[in-house]
Amino acid sequence: MLNTVRIFGSYKALDEALNEYASAQTEVRELTLASDYLTAQVRGFALSPEMEFVDNYFEEANVTKRRDQAVDKIRSRMSHESEESISYLEKSLELSNGLMKTEYYAFTLGIDAMGYDLGSLPDELKSVKLSEEDAALDSEGKLALARDLVFGKDYEKVKNEINDNAKACTDKLMETMRKREEETSNILRSRLMLQFSLMTAMLVVIVLYLVFTDSFILKPIGSFIESVRGNRRFEYDGLREMSFLSSAYNEMLERTKEDNSKLAYDAMHDGLTDLYNRAGYEEIMQTHENDRMAFIIVDIDKFKEFNDMYGHAVGDSVLKRVAGVLKKSFRSEDYICRIGGDEFAVIMVNADSSLRELVKGKLERIADELRKEKDSVPGATLSVGVAFSDREHPQGSIYEDADKALYEVKEKGRNGFAFYQYQAND
Ligand code: GH3
Ligand code: MG
Repeated sequence: MLNTVRIFGSYKALDEALNEYASAQTEVRELTLASDYLTAQVRGFALSPEMEFVDNYFEEANVTKRRDQAVDKIRSRMSHESEESISYLEKSLELSNGLMKTEYYAFTLGIDAMGYDLGSLPDELKSVKLSEEDAALDSEGKLALARDLVFGKDYEKVKNEINDNAKACTDKLMETMRKREEETSNILRSRLMLQFSLMTAMLVVIVLYLVFTDSFILKPIGSFIESVRGNRRFEYDGLREMSFLSSAYNEMLERTKEDNSKLAYDAMHDGLTDLYNRAGYEEIMQTHENDRMAFIIVDIDKFKEFNDMYGHAVGDSVLKRVAGVLKKSFRSEDYICRIGGDEFAVIMVNADSSLRELVKGKLERIADELRKEKDSVPGATLSVGVAFSDREHPQGSIYEDADKALYEVKEKGRNGFAFYQYQAND
């Protein structure tokens, strides 16, 4: 902004210099025109001595005064730098004024030769005295001398000097103006360079700002959005604000993941026994639909009576005990589920009927362990039905067939186990 004001100032200085030069040229022309006008009048009179020329001459010299005015104007308008050129113009005026003595003499010779009335003449002419020698000349001689004076070499020489000085005035002014023009253009150049440098610096700042914004703000925000979409942690180490945002987000993500996995766990597990619940069981069965397995369904005998006899809490502890015994009796990859009130399912994966004896052994040990009271939890008996995925003549789903075997155990008086077997009369 400041620089723009300075450039404007330089232009103004150059403009002033041009104006000075233009008005000086006008004044110089005025002075030479007026000087030539005086010469024209005096020469006109020398050739044809009529009083009209005298009147014109003195009107210019004393009334119009174009030469004096030109010098006055130039002096009032020019700056001190133009002092030298003004002095050339003053010299012109001085020479022109000096030439007037010759011109007065020429006028006086003509007037004398023509015998004009001296009374009506301007004072300048009245005071001119002809030399005795010239006064003695006849009319023709006086007019001839007047012509010699204003057309002669000496007169011409001074006229040339007047013009030369006037020309020197404008030449000098031109030189001054050129100098000022050069200075101004130098100032302009340096200021434009400064302006250019400032603009370049500004451009660099803008580019740096964009690069900074891109790499420290936009790109991290982009990868942050990706992390949010992908439910991933957002690792960032840079700007304090972004670091704060990333650690807050990561903490929130961890908590949400924990909450979600707890919710997922709760949705699939039974709160009392910590075994898979019905929903968990169904999902397991769906996943292992076509796999080899031994399916064991377990029901506590007369469980209702525990509740009725000892209360619901004891009933719960019986359920927990059965769950614990089942859990420790099978491999960790097998699934133990509580699928109803007092009903459990065990899914032994990668198993088939070749494990019949093994299953039998396990069920006997389980029955043994549960029979007696332990830690104030009453003993209980179980009815168990088993079906293998490779059973012969399946009649229903593996669950239905195992349940069928369980039903038979219940029918036969409970406390025992049975393997599903196809019976032709079923
Ligand atoms: P059965 O020998 O024929 O199996 O007889 P049962 O009494 O075990 O048969 P039933 O299915 O009629 O009884 C199951 C009982 O289990 C009924 C219900 O009140 C009880 N029960 C179901 N869920 C819970 C539980 O979470 N805690 C307790 N304490 N009892 C439960
Ligand atoms: Mg029961």
